Amino acid sequence: MSDCLFCKISAGEIPAQIVLETESVLAFRDIAPQAPTHVVVISREHFDNVAQLANSNQVIAAQVLQAATDVAALEGLAQGYRIVTNTGSDGGQSVEHVHFHVLGGRTLTWPPG
Ligand code: AMP
Repeated sequence: MSDCLFCKISAGEIPAQIVLETESVLAFRDIAPQAPTHVVVISREHFDNVAQLANSNQVIAAQVLQAATDVAALEGLAQGYRIVTNTGSDGGQSVEHVHFHVLGGRTLTWPPG
């Protein structure tokens, strides 16, 4: 999608600190980190949210999840981490391109706000 922020990052039109990339997935550091490690994992193909991804392409859905756990390993989060995907306005989604946050490097509280 031409007007999508994460599509532009995937295309290299907007710079990002890339942590991992494959043909179908890109992982980069969040611009406003909420934990010592905060990486955003996206599918290169545009899906609005996790439901659209799961309903459209289960292969890519699995590849994104695999990449998120690979990022946790690469970042050395052996003490634990959290993978989050916000969906819709009540879920706090601000970028309408499916993404998983990988958060770690500190003790995370529960429940989230
Ligand atoms: P969400 O609010 O769950 O949709 O997550 C979107 C995330 O994208 C937020 O954590 C933002 O800080 C992050 N973000 C927005 N713009 C950029 C950018 N240019 N580079 C990296 N992360 C970004």
